[in-house]
Amino acid sequence: MASKNIIQKEMDELQAAFEQHRSAIVTNQTVGEKTRRGHLERLSEVLERFEDDIVKAVSKDFGHRSHMETLFGEVVATTGAVNVAKKYVGQWMRRRKVKTPLHMKPGHSYIMPQPLGVVGIISPWNYPFFLSLSPLAPALAAGNRVMIKPSELTPHSSELLDKMIRWAFPDGEVTVHLGDQQVGETFSSLPFDHLLFTGSTGIGRKIAIAAAHNLTPVTLELGGKSPAIIDSSAHLEKTCRSIVFGKSFNSGQTCVAPDYILVPKDQMPNVVDYLQAAFEEMYPDIDSTADYSAIITEMHLDRLKNLVNQAQEKGIKTISLGNQKSLSAKGKMALTLVLNPDRNLGVMQEEIFGPILPVISYDTIEEAIDYVNTGDRPLALYWFGADKTRKNIVLENTIAGGVTINDTNWHVVQENLPFGGVGASGQGAYHGESGFETFSHMKPVFEQSRFTNTKIMHPPYSDKTERVLNLLRKFI
Ligand code: NAD
Repeated sequence: MASKNIIQKEMDELQAAFEQHRSAIVTNQTVGEKTRRGHLERLSEVLERFEDDIVKAVSKDFGHRSHMETLFGEVVATTGAVNVAKKYVGQWMRRRKVKTPLHMKPGHSYIMPQPLGVVGIISPWNYPFFLSLSPLAPALAAGNRVMIKPSELTPHSSELLDKMIRWAFPDGEVTVHLGDQQVGETFSSLPFDHLLFTGSTGIGRKIAIAAAHNLTPVTLELGGKSPAIIDSSAHLEKTCRSIVFGKSFNSGQTCVAPDYILVPKDQMPNVVDYLQAAFEEMYPDIDSTADYSAIITEMHLDRLKNLVNQAQEKGIKTISLGNQKSLSAKGKMALTLVLNPDRNLGVMQEEIFGPILPVISYDTIEEAIDYVNTGDRPLALYWFGADKTRKNIVLENTIAGGVTINDTNWHVVQENLPFGGVGASGQGAYHGESGFETFSHMKPVFEQSRFTNTKIMHPPYSDKTERVLNLLRKFI
């Protein structure tokens, strides 16, 4: 537990940094396109310059993180967000004409995007660069100053992030604030103009409460149990490969990884076989392969092992794929199937966030939909199949943050699609233009025409006013 003096010092430092950002805005509210492009350009440069360091830092933090997964999940994915922002910032910033109703003409109306001011970003450990820098891109495109609080569980990555930001923004337009949960609490108590939090649902609730004291608007990017529904019309071999890929990327430590799968009862044995075959083909030896990532800490690994043990103690069948028996590599855990666990077991009560995959059988599509809908609203939902009618039944009768059909995870890395949760999996969205709008005040403006005379509507009211109002009813 940090002493009172240290806590006070951290609070003072955060407050001072916030004040510095705020005062810079007061004197310079308008941030032109050239400045915004410059910021985004520096973000591109820093990603390129520090690419190797990013790969090394993340791997150090995880014990082992696949080089390719870091390149893809941290560097390439973030570059995509920055490139889209660079390409469209000019277009996004423009005033947007909206239709003006007949009775308000010849006045005209438009929406004018404006920077909000100081944006806070709190990020988790699972993709320490992507989840700090991909919201930074639209926040900068929107003309804000930004403070980032990364996770304490990835100290090497967080320190590197701080170094990168200092290199890219020597004048302090963006700052990184290192520290643990205590720093997070102080950080979230600052009166930001917008706060984007990515992390667990439990901490998300605390963030919402802290932000409410300042009436700070929040975007909450949270977790949850994302289902994959396999339809009887699915191509099982392809489906199982997609599921194994989406679930094993970063060893399941991905917010949108399929958490559990729902399978037609008569397909269960085939699905188990195909999952097994796909895992063995992708990771023939998880001990030695550099492609399979480790679990972030011993404590997280113990939590996952306990989930499997708890299921086994209740007599639930589990199947460990790959070569777990000979596993000696530190921190790795093979993908483990848990067949038809009860809903009240830990594995179905909490977000798994690791390489455990409950496989649950269903008789009818309605039963599968009910299963999903009796839980919290998930961050992602996957459906596999060829039957269009059943695809639409599932799409129309379930609510999830986002959906990929006939694959896993891919909706997340498309900047044209807003990314966010719903209900317990989050609120608000970002990525691409939706991120720009999240971090902007989309200010509505009506410009009255000098030819319009509204005097007739002013008091003292009369029969004439009533007649005008009655006429107005016909137009609105
Ligand atoms: P976490 O909620 O424990 O921590 C996230 C961040 O919040 C860290 O920086 C931490 O220091 C800070 N924090 C902790 N307590 C705080 C408090 N009381 N006040 C303010 N800040 C506090 O999450 P985690 O374990 O780092 O990440 C895993 C979770 O994040 C999973 O639930 C996962 O699904 C979710 N996640 C969601 C997304 C998404 O985009 N929706 C992406 C990645 C991860």
